[in-house]
Amino acid sequence: MVDVASSCEPTVADAALPLLREVFGYEAFREPQRAIVEHVCAGGDALVLMPTGGGKSVCYQLPAIARHRAGRGVTLVVSPLIALMHDQVGALEELGVHAAFLNSTLESDEARQIERELLAGRLVLLYAAPERILTPRFLAMLDSLHERGLLSLVAIDEAHCVSQWGHDFREEYLGLSQLHERFAEVPRIALTATADAHTRADIVQRLALAGARQFVSSFDRPNIRYTIVEKDDARAQLRRFIEDEHAGDAGIVYCGSRRKVEEIAAWLCSLGVGALPYHAGLDAAVRRAHQDRFLRDDGIVMVATIAFGMGIDKPDVRFVAHLDLPKNIEGYYQETGRAGRDGAAADAWMTYGLADVVNQRRMIDDSVAGDDFKRIQRGKLDALLALAEAHDCRRARLLAYFGETYGGCEAGVRAHCGNCDNCLSPPQTWDATEAARKALSCIYRFHRHSGIGFGAGHLIDVLRGKHSDKTAQHGHEALSTFGVGAELSEAQWRGVLRQLLALGYVQAQGEFNTLQLTPAARAVLRGEVAIVLREPRAAPARRRRGGEARALGSAAGRADLALGEAGEARFAALRQWRSAVAREHNLPAYVVFHDATLQQMAQHAPATLDALARVSGVGVKKLEAYGEAILRVLREVEAPADRA
Ligand code: ADP
Ligand code: ZN
Repeated sequence: MVDVASSCEPTVADAALPLLREVFGYEAFREPQRAIVEHVCAGGDALVLMPTGGGKSVCYQLPAIARHRAGRGVTLVVSPLIALMHDQVGALEELGVHAAFLNSTLESDEARQIERELLAGRLVLLYAAPERILTPRFLAMLDSLHERGLLSLVAIDEAHCVSQWGHDFREEYLGLSQLHERFAEVPRIALTATADAHTRADIVQRLALAGARQFVSSFDRPNIRYTIVEKDDARAQLRRFIEDEHAGDAGIVYCGSRRKVEEIAAWLCSLGVGALPYHAGLDAAVRRAHQDRFLRDDGIVMVATIAFGMGIDKPDVRFVAHLDLPKNIEGYYQETGRAGRDGAAADAWMTYGLADVVNQRRMIDDSVAGDDFKRIQRGKLDALLALAEAHDCRRARLLAYFGETYGGCEAGVRAHCGNCDNCLSPPQTWDATEAARKALSCIYRFHRHSGIGFGAGHLIDVLRGKHSDKTAQHGHEALSTFGVGAELSEAQWRGVLRQLLALGYVQAQGEFNTLQLTPAARAVLRGEVAIVLREPRAAPARRRRGGEARALGSAAGRADLALGEAGEARFAALRQWRSAVAREHNLPAYVVFHDATLQQMAQHAPATLDALARVSGVGVKKLEAYGEAILRVLREVEAPADRA
């Protein structure tokens, strides 16, 4: 590579740091940002893999600004997220960067006006969805820009959408390779927050990025605490979790079905939690309104299907809860990644039980997809189940799934992140080989004796020796396995079965989820495999332990919030001012200033514009637009004006 510093002509990349300070008001680049920005400023192609909250926007926005100032024209941002373009563009305009979007929400004269700005080379960034970009009309505009040297850069956001391996596959993304064929020398940067090795290879191949430099950041989100609890009464568990640990916080509760979304949202509201439903079955206007309230109001809990969330960059989501199992680790990681973008302590919490395993397996089996696809999906689900059943560090497992070794742990040394449930309160394990054999042999005997399989409930009754109509009707009281498992409670047996299903020794089939042995079960029955399972813990014990650990964690996580009384008063006044500005501009509050920025202002109470400019997140444009008003707010708090 050419040493930029040794060249006497200033390059576009030289402007990067001053621009970061001027436009974004940030003091320094975060670790991978500088290299990415310099590479792209200099016209290189890049593939950026960075976790949510890592700071991807700067990676393409800053080169866009630098290259526009150098006369190279507009950066086209490909994004699947029409609903969010308004806020993304609003955030840029707040920074003084001329940006726009073209999508179906615009009136035609608005669209014409933006096209004129675009063709005149005045726009710095233009956001559009792929299906729009690939229309003849749009391509003709790009041609015109390109001919005049005014197509600077193509940024492809959410690049994993091009891959069928991923969980957000969008057919339209496949067409994007056309851009490269048409504008071969225009640099491209593709960005994504999720990518296992397969997805990454797909992105490279389908977007023709073989020559691009890859920037792979650590996917660790150290401020997110991972907790997976055994489901007993999911509602009660969720209620405890929210009331004990997240009262008044903004959060997302993911559910597997639309109906459940509606029910849980209504139930949370009845408990006094400000909850809203979101799923694809709701009217577009209702969805939009709920999303807006989530983004703009404080402390809203969004109860949603996975239709909600992609690209939601609300920084202060304090928790993401799953009441149903996601499909795979990619989904789980992306959904939980929406918590704590601002770097402060946040929770990823999931309750998971026997029915989850059965349902997710069933959804794959019953789907119309081809066998190859089903095989892939099963493998992915198994990886997630292994995470849910893990006895060791969840973070290390998650990162291992993405090909990363946590904390440079040497082989044989157990990773310990100190911020997941298993690290904070290591689960007891027990040798369940005997119990597993009893369950498996009972399933075997059902088939031998009755010629059919039975579901989990009946199996547990037989193991525990509980007489019922069904045990009598089928003559199962005569089985040698009747009552052999009376020492375990029903809940404990459910735990054993769940784990046997998750580990692939048993499968559930047909309409009634009847249990069958898999070929792997034979080795267990023969006593060749030992089965070590998590101790089925009683809920109260878990709660108490979790509670203590949580108190410690949140104290550490909120240390930066210790403002003192005067600081708190300033913070409150600044937030109030911010809400008014946000309302006036029809934008979410965090677009005006992040909490972290207001906190710094509240802490240091700058008295001059110079001092205010040193606060992280205050760039030139915002200083000019809001500086005086902020100083006035701060002065008012110190010495409230007399209100006679
Ligand atoms: P991503 O798109 O990767 O999820 P964002 O681009 O939204 O992440 O950035 C996450 C947060 O980090 C935002 O609040 C952003 O303002 C902040 N941020 C990004 N880069 C920097 C930096 N160099 N210094 C300080 N804050 C930054
Ligand atoms: Zn851990």
